[in-house]
Amino acid sequence: MLLPEVSIFRLHGRLDILQESVCVNKMSINIAIDGPAGAGKSTLAKEFAKRLQYIYVDTGAMYRGIAYYFLKNQMDVTNQTLICNQCTSIELRIQYEDGIQHVICNEEDITNFIRTEEVGNAASIVSSYPCVRQHLLDMQKKIARESDVIMDGRDIGTCVLPNAQLKIYLTASVECRAQRRFDELKSKMEQADYDKIYNEIMDRDYRDMNRATAPLKRAEDAFLVDSSEMNIEEVLDYFMKLYKDVILCA
Ligand code: C5P
Repeated sequence: MLLPEVSIFRLHGRLDILQESVCVNKMSINIAIDGPAGAGKSTLAKEFAKRLQYIYVDTGAMYRGIAYYFLKNQMDVTNQTLICNQCTSIELRIQYEDGIQHVICNEEDITNFIRTEEVGNAASIVSSYPCVRQHLLDMQKKIARESDVIMDGRDIGTCVLPNAQLKIYLTASVECRAQRRFDELKSKMEQADYDKIYNEIMDRDYRDMNRATAPLKRAEDAFLVDSSEMNIEEVLDYFMKLYKDVILCA
């Protein structure tokens, strides 16, 4: 059942203020999407980018790439000194094949290995270290300077692209995010334990929101979208509406 538009979209942005500052010609258009784990950022940002023909930059994949390197080399990701000493020797880059982002770590394509819960949890640990964030920050800023991008992560609107022309904070209830992850694993015939997933999401939220450096939080000028009761198409349509209102000023 479709809810009325006003209540589906819990919109707390200030369209009028944003419109004034955005309707000018810029070198590149940057759209920032932040939010907690499992809110659907990647799926939505990917589709949004396809519709706009922008480059989609999944910054979580970069943190996962770094975490994967340490796990693979059996290094203790909770040892900050060790991770910081090793971090700068990792050559990480992203490249696109048929519009799909690939993560290349020390010349190895690791894209297919970074999507596990283990890597996600390790990424959440190493991403709290300032040295790791600094290592990736310049790369992320450079990509956004050179291309029209939709970049998703935790600190895009607040730290990486504070001047992004459109910022969205996408969230959903913990129960809803855990259920979606559970359903996703089940559909792939993988083992899934709802309570474990729920607790891992709670832990990741806590770590991401409470770290000292670049914690996950909604930028003041970001539109808040709660997707708990929305399907992908509904959220995407709303993103397109924001794009037209804010960027195209239609
Ligand atoms: O988005 P994804 O779940 O792939 O991100 C993995 C982890 O990387 C997050 O839990 C978060 O700790 C970290 N991350 C971050 N800053 C970003 C993107 C991801 O700290 N911009």
